Amino acid sequence: MATTQSRPAESDFHDGNPSLQRSADGFGAEEITSIIPIDEFDRYETAYRAYADSITEPWSPPRRPSIPSPAETTQDILLPEYEFDEDTHHDPFDVDGAEYDDYVYVPAASPARPRRGGRHRLAAPPSGLKGGRAALIAMAAGAAVAAATGQFTAHQTEDKASDQPARAAVVPDTGPGVVAGTPSKDLRNFADQLAAGEALAKDNAAKDAASRRPFYVSPVALGAYDFTSCYCGRWGSFHAGIDMAAPLGTPIHAATDGVVVEAGPASGFGNWIQVKAPDGTITVYGHMFSDGVNVSKGQHVTAGDVIGHVGSDGQSTGPHCHFEVWKNGVTKIDPAPWLAQHGVVLAGYTG
Ligand SMILES: [Zn+2]
Repeated sequence: MATTQSRPAESDFHDGNPSLQRSADGFGAEEITSIIPIDEFDRYETAYRAYADSITEPWSPPRRPSIPSPAETTQDILLPEYEFDEDTHHDPFDVDGAEYDDYVYVPAASPARPRRGGRHRLAAPPSGLKGGRAALIAMAAGAAVAAATGQFTAHQTEDKASDQPARAAVVPDTGPGVVAGTPSKDLRNFADQLAAGEALAKDNAAKDAASRRPFYVSPVALGAYDFTSCYCGRWGSFHAGIDMAAPLGTPIHAATDGVVVEAGPASGFGNWIQVKAPDGTITVYGHMFSDGVNVSKGQHVTAGDVIGHVGSDGQSTGPHCHFEVWKNGVTKIDPAPWLAQHGVVLAGYTG
């Protein structure tokens, strides 16, 4: 930093400032090498900017496909002004001197939409606007979301059955976040659209949460069970699964997505549940009591769903979940490495 060419003259430091002159311990201004000339800050700033601009999106974990992230749906809402023009813009100031505070709200249920008479008449805002600007924006958002996803069309179809005039049924796809130009000039159904938008947002949030769920889950949560029997020879016979000992009623989770192919009584198992994954693998859960079977045959489940509760029915010496994995739906394989292979940590074997 102590470059000689850009360095201010020493006299610049202590001209008229006695405190900057040589101090008692003998150091002078030219020895303070940490002083960075102002013009060098620009260089650092430029370098930092280049670095900062080079950083793109932060890393995020893999997601299940098919569901756009919230950032991909919409951020900006564009709503044409003529969406709001029906009553408010035709004759907003039909008498000189009309003021904004001289209107009365009209209940949404009122079909005639009577206006208050009198000289100082200003078109009432649509009844849906009772909440003011915030409500307007919220409704705009709801309408935009609905329009962008096709729900707008459904609404219009429904409206045809009511006393509303029929409108164009086809809504052009203007892209996410942009309301189509033609659909509704009648603001009475904006509340409906808002509800539709809210429902859609809720649905999307649920889908988004679902998209983050893992593909493989421990049948009994890690920490909630003891790994008491391996896939190995035991008592003169072969034990074709693993035993996860846990208190009665401990939730049992589907290890994979899939369809329930068996749910009910089975010899030796007390009751069992079989879930067939899309790749053909069948996972088997056993020893539940009959009231500990939460699913039924044909039901679709997602990995992690609670499908039953730990019992001790059948050939069982204590409460546990007997878990098997049948490769291709046929061959019983060791569940421990299968779970590990799919990222599921197994508790230490306690025997
Ligand atoms: Zn077992």
